[in-house]
Amino acid sequence: MTDRKKGAQFQLTSRFVAILTGLLLIVNVAFVTISLYSVYYYLADQAKEIATTLEEVPQATDDWDALVDVTIAKNEEDAVRILLTDGPTYYSKDGKEIFTELAEGTALPIFKGIILMEDEIYYFQRHQQQGRTVEIAIHGNTVIEMMMRMLVISVLLNLFAVLIGSWIIYFFVGKWSKTLQQMTQEMKEIELTNNQAKLLSVPETPSEIKQAASSFNQLLRMQREAMKREGQFVTDASHELRTPLTAIRGHVQLIKRRGSAHPEVIAPSIDFIDKESKRLETMTNQLLLLGKHHATQVCKEVDFSVLVQQEVQKLQASCPQEVTFDIQENIHMYADELELQQICQNLFGNARKYSAANETIHIRLQANETIQLDVADTGEGIPDEMKGRIFERFFRVDSSRSSQVEGSGIGLAIVASIVEKYQGKLSVADNQPKGSIFTVEFPKK
Ligand code: ADP
Repeated sequence: MTDRKKGAQFQLTSRFVAILTGLLLIVNVAFVTISLYSVYYYLADQAKEIATTLEEVPQATDDWDALVDVTIAKNEEDAVRILLTDGPTYYSKDGKEIFTELAEGTALPIFKGIILMEDEIYYFQRHQQQGRTVEIAIHGNTVIEMMMRMLVISVLLNLFAVLIGSWIIYFFVGKWSKTLQQMTQEMKEIELTNNQAKLLSVPETPSEIKQAASSFNQLLRMQREAMKREGQFVTDASHELRTPLTAIRGHVQLIKRRGSAHPEVIAPSIDFIDKESKRLETMTNQLLLLGKHHATQVCKEVDFSVLVQQEVQKLQASCPQEVTFDIQENIHMYADELELQQICQNLFGNARKYSAANETIHIRLQANETIQLDVADTGEGIPDEMKGRIFERFFRVDSSRSSQVEGSGIGLAIVASIVEKYQGKLSVADNQPKGSIFTVEFPKK
């Protein structure tokens, strides 16, 4: 099949023509059948009418010739024959010839009484009346011709309807498929040129194509955004990993060059290498995690209240700060349990890391319009100008405490990325009198 024949325009038009022709064929066959029966009953009624008129004539009438003519005066081609039981046979005008020809005609098996002759068609009826047999032949050509004429007109009109209908459908489908062709063309262009700014043009109608084009554009935007993020991520990650590696190599060189002459440099350098390699390990683990939760996700009904409660207990057992909580029971979420755990561990861990041992950490979970988790600490807090940046990958606030605390700047990026996946919101605000409150909000489903 050629491409044109496979196209929507050709396919839809040919189907439409096939359906329309089929329907019209059925209608026309029904029309012919009904018309044929109507004509048949019309002829039979006419014959019956003549028979009824003749029935009323008494046996003793002596003017049969005139009588039969009067009876059929309506149509000269009709004929009547009266056979008296013990007397002569009377014919209407030209009746003898008509009945002689009728005797040679062919009777139809379905329409009883119809007799076909060379150019004529007759309806024949025989009646037994008091002392005589009345035979009536009704000429059917005129009615049949009229019916045929109507049939031809109807077929022509139907053909016209098919032609016009096909043209209209061809025109409209063509319009739609043109929009689709244009869309495919634009998609090919995007694929070939890899133009990152180009999107599909969205037509106003038909709405399905409008919807498809909008969805495709949305997908394209998301994919480009993701690719941009991935690219940025690789750059940031390489940069972040290179810095400690360069420092480690520097210390190794130092030990190699001066270690034997000045053994006192060895111990601090080894310490440094140990600390930095530990940091590298944590960072690579976190990087792996960041990539992993994008790839696999096992969602199920999770009792978020129980999960938070368990994480709070772990925190209480491992941190010097006082941990208080206010957890509403029976808050359920359809989510990946490990991801929810990750959110809690990163936020709780930060509250612990960035506040002194004598501070307080308060955790609150409640569900109203949304499911809301607050992690509040009374630690060092975050300067306003940094609040927007702490969710970026590898960003760390350069305060005296932050620089002393081990970290890679990935924890909050992980939280932000998980929260975003669940269409949630992550924000940070100042706590009173000091410290920070991290808030995660999930839509209720
Ligand atoms: P990390 O803690 O490994 O450095 P995060 O992404 O978890 O990385 O945090 C980014 C930065 O945000 C931290 O380095 C820290 O400066 C700041 N931060 C996060 N949580 C808190 C908090 N509770 N109090 C003060 N500063 C915080």
